[in-house]
Amino acid sequence: MSNMDEVGFDSSAAVDGGESFEAVVVGGGPGGAAAAAVLAENGVETLVLERGVEAGSKNVSGGLLYAEESAPYTLDGLFPGFRDEATERPVTRNYMDNLADGKVHTVDLGGVHHHDTEWCDSVLRRPMDSWVAERVHERTVEAGGGLLTGVRVNGLLREGGEIVGVTCDELDPIRADLIVAADGVNSELARDAGLMDWDEPEEWFQGVKAVVDVPPEEVNDRFGIDDDEGVARLFAGDLFEGVRGGGFLYTNRDSLSIGTVFHLDSLAAERAEPQELLDALLTHPHLGQWLPDEYDEYDEREYSAKLVPDSKKVAHPSPHEGRLLLVGDAAGQMQAQGPIIKGMNHAVSAGGLAAEAYIEARNRRQPESAGERYERRLHDSGLYGKLRPRRYEALGRFGEREVVADAVDDLAGSRLGRLGVRIAGGVVERAFNSPFLLGALPDTRTAYATVPRVLAEELGEPVRGDNDADPPSLEERIGDLTYDTDVGNPHIELMDNSFEASGTAVTACPVSAEGFGGGCYREETVRANGDEERVVSLDTQPCVECGTCAVVADTEWTHPRGGKGVDFRQG
Ligand SMILES: Cc1cc2nc3c(=O)[nH]c(=O)nc-3n(C[C@H](O)[C@H](O)[C@H](O)COP(=O)(O)OP(=O)(O)OC[C@H]3O[C@@H](n4cnc5c(N)ncnc54)[C@H](O)[C@@H]3O)c2cc1C
Ligand code: SF4
Repeated sequence: MSNMDEVGFDSSAAVDGGESFEAVVVGGGPGGAAAAAVLAENGVETLVLERGVEAGSKNVSGGLLYAEESAPYTLDGLFPGFRDEATERPVTRNYMDNLADGKVHTVDLGGVHHHDTEWCDSVLRRPMDSWVAERVHERTVEAGGGLLTGVRVNGLLREGGEIVGVTCDELDPIRADLIVAADGVNSELARDAGLMDWDEPEEWFQGVKAVVDVPPEEVNDRFGIDDDEGVARLFAGDLFEGVRGGGFLYTNRDSLSIGTVFHLDSLAAERAEPQELLDALLTHPHLGQWLPDEYDEYDEREYSAKLVPDSKKVAHPSPHEGRLLLVGDAAGQMQAQGPIIKGMNHAVSAGGLAAEAYIEARNRRQPESAGERYERRLHDSGLYGKLRPRRYEALGRFGEREVVADAVDDLAGSRLGRLGVRIAGGVVERAFNSPFLLGALPDTRTAYATVPRVLAEELGEPVRGDNDADPPSLEERIGDLTYDTDVGNPHIELMDNSFEASGTAVTACPVSAEGFGGGCYREETVRANGDEERVVSLDTQPCVECGTCAVVADTEWTHPRGGKGVDFRQG
């Protein structure tokens, strides 16, 4: 357990015989870091447990980090120097490019981008999270705790049915008065407590991302920006084979983050291959103007993927049980508001609010009331209203009914709809910039594919230029990942290997593909008792731990043991 020595924490007590702390925070992402910082600052003895070899090594985001004016907590507020030391570029411009039929129609998303925004920076998660974790460690040590990496918490410790601590792969059980589960999208603690029952693909998005090397002066030159500026571009239209979702490109200091985020139900239904959809974006002629050309070879630093919850459907209105409080993705608090994605900032706010709630409960000598107080804060601070807007429940859900969705889609693509688009192009632009309307938007192909396509066809300009980018094959991408193999300890078990039960994993897994022998999931035809059967086999070695197969296949899914598995360098 060398990582424990690296962070300078004496773990011997925790290893021998069951240690106790006032608070245990599980997860060193933005939610866990914020909770731990606020707890430690208020003198609460806090232990943070992180399963990666370093905080951030398991994490992926797009990533635009928004600091909202209305947010109760922000990372620069909690950690002075954060923006100078741990982020990439302030993102000052945001556009959406609707693409179809060789044309592009660009919408300036400045309105929605700057709405309620104090600042917005591009970030890469490994450098960001590890910088934050160092500060968290310093502060928690002062309060009598610390941050340990390479430790996977595998469940809740219960006594007489009550939650009293956590159990880990690497340490003896740890007792605590407060347990903050900030363990992200595939939270084993939320499931153990019965607080996470989202098993339907429609409750998730899958994100796949490439970080592409581009020298800083080229980033400035290609986007027409200075060192202290950055650009976000989003992409929709006909380049994703009708799969509901879109693409993004964010400028970092000396690289570009380019990726796609799709509704998992759509990806599964279309049997689409995520890495092929990413390549459709990377090789689209419109992208050529920003990517390395024939003079500078295209170099992908990292390929990654992860799931995110759709807060509109799953944000838990009451994310606590006894001493356990859930924050961030573990509580379903990831907001996709039309083209704008906000998860990290909400995890920070929720982490801070959870800590505040516990401190108040303790000061009033009612520690058992921390969960109720946290819930009230989530609602009173306005955070819950952003995550599950009432107008979405009223309008969006209605619009998603199949018959309504089909009718609207037909209308949008009809001659009448096209005429309307030609006449009302400016209105559509205003609609994209209205946080109110975006909060009521139904998750249908009308918004993600049909309207962008019609806008491009009716109002677009021809796409100019070529794209010489030559992205690596899936095999090369897997080969480039850093991976600490855990042979003999599979973290995924296939429960039903029939194609009917688990076949979707072959296409939806971002490191597997039909007809590709080197990924995690493979389809084969076997002969048994004279019959031919289509079955699925699993080898978890190139797994990027996204969790997709936990939803689309019949598996028993857990995280790998602490420090094992994939080790992202960018994130
Ligand atoms: C492709 C993509 C694009 C995105 N784009 C954006 C964006 O532009 N802006 C934005 O704000 N958000 C974005 N998000 C969402 C954002 O990444 C998440 O909402 C955010 O990271 C949630 O923070 P968290 O602290 O709740 O969880 P995480 O950041 O996931 O952190 C959880 C931590 O817990 C650790 N952990 C998990 N299980 C255990 C365990 N059992 N024991 C110990 N440690 C454990 C993990 O290793 C990890 O460090 C995007 C996500 C994806 C996948
Ligand atoms: S095996 Fe499952 S968790 Fe691993 S990369 Fe594939 S879909 Fe994701």
